[in-house]
Amino acid sequence: MNATPNTDIAQQVAHVRDGFDQGVTKPYAWRREQLQALDRLVADNEAALCAAIHADLRKHPHEAYTTELAIVRAEIAHTLKHLKGWLKPRTVKPSLAVLPARAYTVLEPLGVALIIAPWNYPVQLLLAPMVGALAAGNAVVVKPSEIAAHTSSLLADLIPKYLDPRAVVVVEGGVPETTELLEQRFDHIFYTGNGTVGRIVMTAAAQHLTPVTLELGGKSPVFVDDTQDIDLVAARIAWGKFVNAGQTCVAPDYVLATPSVARDLAHAIARVVERMYGPDPKSSQDYGRVINERQFDRLSAYLGSENGETITGGQVSREDLYIAPTVLFGTSPDAPVMQEEIFGPILPIVTVRDAAEAISYVRGGDKPLALYVFSDRREVRRAFLRDTSSGALTFGLPVAHLAIPDLPFGGVGESGMGSYHGKRSIEVFSHEKSVVSKPLTPDTMALIYPPFEEGKSTI
Ligand code: NAD
Repeated sequence: MNATPNTDIAQQVAHVRDGFDQGVTKPYAWRREQLQALDRLVADNEAALCAAIHADLRKHPHEAYTTELAIVRAEIAHTLKHLKGWLKPRTVKPSLAVLPARAYTVLEPLGVALIIAPWNYPVQLLLAPMVGALAAGNAVVVKPSEIAAHTSSLLADLIPKYLDPRAVVVVEGGVPETTELLEQRFDHIFYTGNGTVGRIVMTAAAQHLTPVTLELGGKSPVFVDDTQDIDLVAARIAWGKFVNAGQTCVAPDYVLATPSVARDLAHAIARVVERMYGPDPKSSQDYGRVINERQFDRLSAYLGSENGETITGGQVSREDLYIAPTVLFGTSPDAPVMQEEIFGPILPIVTVRDAAEAISYVRGGDKPLALYVFSDRREVRRAFLRDTSSGALTFGLPVAHLAIPDLPFGGVGESGMGSYHGKRSIEVFSHEKSVVSKPLTPDTMALIYPPFEEGKSTI
């Protein structure tokens, strides 16, 4: 693992703060150039980035492109197209009491932003928040995940070659380096990862009253009833679950299915798995691997019969960090696999009586990052919308909602705090400053100054 020496960390942060203080990042032209440079970084190094992601996660280059590089490039293109409009001052109507006057707001950059990324989409989850931070005119310190070591080291090499070193710096490393980083003062901390570290980040941020965005995880449920084509439903679920070998923050974590479809759905997903990855997914180039032994051991423990009947999958290889795409059926809500975010290629299917039971189950747990519903019944869709809370709710589309740049992406409760993408990212990394301008004459304010003799306005 590459690590930035601790002695350099405070100095690096001070260096980009200096860049910010000198006004390097504020001009619109600078922001545009940085976004264009970031786009060139991704475009020029597509093969190298895909190779690094492959070395870390065995992601097929096509999957790496569509789920990481293309998303970053789309975010950049969308931002470049709209940035000027988003940055326009927002005029508000002044109240009668202060007329004549002009009132409006301007977005000003916060200062130095720290972005801490996880290992599962090591390019997308580092660069997409960077788009917002740079577009909003901030200096940026980025910390890739040490666990995706190949990608971390490649990004640490590339970023200084493309982006302005006066205002953008990469810090590499794990817990000691991040701890040292978190002791510094930032103007925003944007963290993606698990809730335990989220709490550490928020505690550190509190020392400096630094605002935070926490993009966390948790169990994202799927509900399926008997109103839709089960093969099409199975394909959507299987893709969302097994892309990146299940290591996706918004992956369907488990399925709640009504009794008339539950078993058919399990078998339909098994057929889709075979269609996507062949009879032996281990030999498929299209199927990824678990990131490391620690995750492998945690996930393999879920393969016992106490977690349900195995409909497909269950095979593992520790040397290869391989866990077959696995579908479990008849899982009990009390089973170990239902207690924590799975974050791997294991899909339990729990039978529920109806939508009402599914809703009450979902409400009994933490608020999910995403909730996916497959039902044609209007009252069912409406009930999920009204009676559940989650970062996102989709009908018929797991995972891909995050590719819609104008939709804020983020969690609620245990699944996170704040959101980003598109215009929302600019708001995250900006302060909306209120501005009022009132001429000194006519001096309407004289009406409210003391002395308060009779007949004077009280507004
Ligand atoms: P991780 O282990 O790579 O950790 C994330 C970052 O936190 C890394 O940069 C790491 O160096 C840093 N870190 C780890 N321990 C630390 C400590 N003690 N102090 C300070 N910093 C520390 O990734 P992870 O947390 O295992 O990621 C998986 C989790 O992230 C899952 O829960 C997943 O759902 C969630 N996730 C959420 C999103 C989202 O957009 N909401 C996206 C991806 C992953």
